[in-house]
Amino acid sequence: MIYAVISDIHSNLEALHAILKKVDEIRPHKVICLGDIVGYGANPNECVDIIRGKNIISLRGNHDNAASGLSEPYNFNAAARRAALWTRTKLTDENRKYLAGLPDERGFENFMAVHGAPSDPDRYILSESGAEEEFGMLGGRPVCFFGHTHRAVTYRMCKNYVDTVKEKVFPVESGCSYLINPGSVGQPRDGDPQASFLSYDDSGRIEFYRVGYDIELAQRKILEAGLDEILAARLSLGR
Ligand code: ZN
Repeated sequence: MIYAVISDIHSNLEALHAILKKVDEIRPHKVICLGDIVGYGANPNECVDIIRGKNIISLRGNHDNAASGLSEPYNFNAAARRAALWTRTKLTDENRKYLAGLPDERGFENFMAVHGAPSDPDRYILSESGAEEEFGMLGGRPVCFFGHTHRAVTYRMCKNYVDTVKEKVFPVESGCSYLINPGSVGQPRDGDPQASFLSYDDSGRIEFYRVGYDIELAQRKILEAGLDEILAARLSLGR
């Protein structure tokens, strides 16, 4: 089976369109979204409609929680909190219910999918030592995909030694475990402003992709919606 794994779309319609065009070329059997479909950007309903319409298997992230009213964005920074509450006022009833009903993790035959970390959907895995604490929680599966940090990265554990895989295309080796973040579609924070995702062939191959999109249009819409300027500015920085 070939999967496309996407994450952290954050209401960025332009980035989502660009990614899905590339995904169509790969022709995966299934597309999986690790959560945070909404929050930050100007097109929450359009993005949720696409995920639903294409039967993409999605998880629920912390921004989906806040926007759908499952939680309050108390621990968000000011711009993120305003965007979450703005999104809450914009979401249709149907889309709000859809987001609220998503699971926050999912196990598949050969891999698992979480928003933040296997131990906690709100935890950020930002380092090899952070990853090391999570490898014991994969339920025997060799691969776990996580999002939340908006940074494309692969942590690998072989014989209890954890390192970071530098390659963008690599084999999944038997006897090793992997914690893999596809990066963010709608708000990358790893220094590359292009939208990010990956493909996973469960016979043992990962490939990361970066896709350019109309950043200026996404920025203009954020400003026109009255959302904070920083949310527009950061898109061209990839931070
Ligand atoms: Zn996010």
